[in-house]
Amino acid sequence: MSTIFSQIIEGEIPARIVYEDETTIAFLDANPLAPGHTLVIPKAEYERLNDVPDDVATDLYATIHQLVPAVEDAVDADATTVAFNNGEEAGQEVPHVHCHIVPRFEGDGGGPIHGIAGDVPDLADDELDDIAADIESRA
Ligand code: AMP
Repeated sequence: MSTIFSQIIEGEIPARIVYEDETTIAFLDANPLAPGHTLVIPKAEYERLNDVPDDVATDLYATIHQLVPAVEDAVDADATTVAFNNGEEAGQEVPHVHCHIVPRFEGDGGGPIHGIAGDVPDLADDELDDIAADIESRA
């Protein structure tokens, strides 16, 4: 598997790289949802967050943590939406895990991450208890 992001890492196609270290790299999204829309990725190819080993996850979060204020300051954003489309059914198109940092501005017409929901479930208390216990047992 080799995605367009690996081609960016290898320097085979151009990108506006804003940060790079041994294990992670960040560059401007080619189709920005806002000025400063940035993608942060591990250099090694993992399709989903679920596939990322602990040490790479630590490095990836450290880069996100560093980039969020840098992006906000650079474009004078009021806030950011920071999110992963984790899997095809969630809207992931490039199968190389990537974090979107999308600058947000007062009155930009966008919405909160809650806007991703389709049919919102009406879950009873015992169903919520079961789900919480199941997740806890796997975490
Ligand atoms: P996703 O839908 O979460 O997989 O997002 C993939 C993102 O990659 C989209 O926002 C695209 O605009 C972006 N993208 C695709 N190709 C490139 C590229 N060559 N350089 C920068 N961003 C890209």
